[in-house]
Amino acid sequence: MMIRVLGCSGAIAAGSKTTSFLLDDSILIDAGTGVGDLTLDELARIDHIFVSHSHLDHVLAIGLLADSVLRRRATQGRPPIVVHALASTIEALRTHIFNGVIWPDFSRLPTVDAPVLKFEPIAVGDALVLDGHRIEVLSAAHTVPAVGFAVDAGDEQGWWVYTGDTGPNPLLWERLRTMKVAHLVIETAFSDDERRLAELSQHLCPSSLRAELAQLAGSVDVHITHIKPGEVDAVMAGVERLAHPHRIHALHAGQRMELGQRNDSASDVLRQSPEPLVSLANNL
Ligand SMILES: [Zn+2]
Ligand SMILES: [Zn+2]
Repeated sequence: MMIRVLGCSGAIAAGSKTTSFLLDDSILIDAGTGVGDLTLDELARIDHIFVSHSHLDHVLAIGLLADSVLRRRATQGRPPIVVHALASTIEALRTHIFNGVIWPDFSRLPTVDAPVLKFEPIAVGDALVLDGHRIEVLSAAHTVPAVGFAVDAGDEQGWWVYTGDTGPNPLLWERLRTMKVAHLVIETAFSDDERRLAELSQHLCPSSLRAELAQLAGSVDVHITHIKPGEVDAVMAGVERLAHPHRIHALHAGQRMELGQRNDSASDVLRQSPEPLVSLANNL
């Protein structure tokens, strides 16, 4: 299986898109501005959207995507795209976005009986199996109700874990202690200069990241995400000063993370394709 990083920035600028990951062809994890780089055919293949929380940088493409594929899905008789989110996140989306003012209610369009979107509540600890993928809902600690997600790449490989937006979060590490974590995508939204802002907005900065990573066992590929454009060097310089046993990388839009079964002995080599590509097998 393949995870494409469509966007991993904390804000927008040319070349910087907000958070979205595409798991194989049909599952989107968060729906930030990176979704806009998919072709119409690729957009039309998305059947599920997992939403970490209600903030705009993670949700704004849900409604735009629905609008793009509505006609095509209706013509093909396809079922609604299922939006999986906390009940409070669904309520926020309905109240503040799909309210007929900011955007139409696509959970009732093109028809009430056959809409293009369907909202399904999830809760921390839920494990869903969709299109052959097992996805678990993880806790997050943010200014609004929030979750992260873990995708199971199989017993041999372990889990691909995405924290979502979060400040310090003991419950996450409690759960991850019982899982084989292969890749951890963790936010570090602020540099240490802005530690106070990070605390207020329940994000991480390098010094708080250190305390979080100290709770992660073993030696894991850690990918830093949600850095604002123009602040990547400052944040990564702070991260690189931390002492820990993990392999740290800055996540890049366009990166593909392959989580497939690998049989060759070169599987522990970080493979660089035209777009950066990381194999889960790195950790075996
Ligand atoms: Zn947020
Ligand atoms: Zn965010």
